[in-house]
Amino acid sequence: MTLAHTCTNTTRQPAHPPAPAIYPEQIDKYLTGGRNFIDHTAIARLLEVAGEPDPRQVEDILAKSLAVQTLSPDETALLLRVRGDESLERMRQAAATVKKKVYDNRIVTFAPLYMSSRCVNDCLYCGFRRSNTAAHRRTLSLAEVKEEATVLAGRIGHKRLIVVYGEHPRSGVDYIASTMEAVYGVKVKTRRGWGQIRRCNVNAAPMSIEDLAVLKAAGLGTYQVFQETYHRPTYERVHPAGTLKSNYLWRLYSMHRAMEAGIDDVGLGALFGLYDWRYEVMGLLYHAIELERRFGIGPHTISFPRLEPAANTPFTQRPDHAVDDADFERLVTVLRLAVPYTGMILTAREPANLRRRILPLGCTQMDAGSRIGVGGYATRPDADQTDDQQFMLGDTRGLDTVIRELAEAGYITSFCTAGYRCGRTGTKIMNLLRSGAEGRFCKLNAVITFREWLDDFAGPETLAVGEALIAHEIDQIRRTQPKMFEQFMEFYGKTQDGRRDLYF
Ligand code: SF4
Repeated sequence: MTLAHTCTNTTRQPAHPPAPAIYPEQIDKYLTGGRNFIDHTAIARLLEVAGEPDPRQVEDILAKSLAVQTLSPDETALLLRVRGDESLERMRQAAATVKKKVYDNRIVTFAPLYMSSRCVNDCLYCGFRRSNTAAHRRTLSLAEVKEEATVLAGRIGHKRLIVVYGEHPRSGVDYIASTMEAVYGVKVKTRRGWGQIRRCNVNAAPMSIEDLAVLKAAGLGTYQVFQETYHRPTYERVHPAGTLKSNYLWRLYSMHRAMEAGIDDVGLGALFGLYDWRYEVMGLLYHAIELERRFGIGPHTISFPRLEPAANTPFTQRPDHAVDDADFERLVTVLRLAVPYTGMILTAREPANLRRRILPLGCTQMDAGSRIGVGGYATRPDADQTDDQQFMLGDTRGLDTVIRELAEAGYITSFCTAGYRCGRTGTKIMNLLRSGAEGRFCKLNAVITFREWLDDFAGPETLAVGEALIAHEIDQIRRTQPKMFEQFMEFYGKTQDGRRDLYF
């Protein structure tokens, strides 16, 4: 396919955008005695210990998780050794309780929006890698970005996106900022009110502090960079030398630079299947501890995608460290317990039946109605676009179906984006989450945004299930938050009348 679309913004996008670059001084400044914070020797030693741990030790650790305290590497490694059915069941129960305590029955829903499939890197596992000559390459123009946002906000009903970019001069920081601006500018009339994307989270390449400050000014929500694998030899094997991405430390310190740029809302992740999943869990924990120690702010979210097949990408057919469903369940449980305050993102990479099983283990966010082909929402909404995607999706159900199923199971879908707009980020959100107080605002906002979605987008069946759930939630708010109830009902009533974007 030849490139038919180019970015039309002339104010931000220069004719010859600069090539992405690495600034060694923005790595070295964070090292301690020349060393980074992933203590490979310690992780390897902890993972070598064999044998089932004493159930009493497990109970002590679970008590710490239930008090919403981050576990230590020793404690987390011990949970990774649990094999017995009884102890595993205790861990699953505790994980569900932690989630309920910190996030109640809310599930935040979002959609991915892929902006560009051009990439200068050559990651062995990725359909967008530069050596994949079978991949169709495309970078959305701003007009096309608006078309995608119109479908997402006006037809499906999303309020929150994760916008995704390959690493390429044509999708550098100026392009990212322009596309975010285009997304935020779309406002669509709906059945009872209007739809708009209120939060753009960004998944993009590691950047300099200066570029990150540009994204902050453009209204970025969460900045996501997944380390892919924390195991350095594996990292260097799957990211060929000479590519930008082959620099392990530039990627590892992405979040440090983000914090320095004033972005206190960051998302970590690892691509499970590249190396031993237990090592990746430990890597994520070390990363969270490092951010807490240095900035007082842990990750807002942790993602745990599993390696999925991609077109013309042999590496994905038989990965050396493929994670089966049982181990996937264990890793999600241990992550929930190890970093109890963090949001946990369960994506549509996983098939619907597995998502049903994994969600109760403490996940807080999921995408739905997702299309990951570049331009997929507006041009080919009903198809998995195998030659145009980074990988294959496991759950292609529509948002209406997913929301109905969640509501039937007692979960309220939240489209709330109030937190970052009210300054509830960084240390403020950390304190609220650890104390369980964040839920006060979130419950109110979840019900109001759920009302918006039901009135604007729900099919009749989902509307009926949603009404029953919302009645239950309102009754709970009346009982548990009597001081807020009057104002809440005022906002709720206005929302029913077609007002939008009211929040606490
Ligand atoms: S994983 Fe990301 S950086 Fe690597 S080839 Fe794919 S799009 Fe590029």
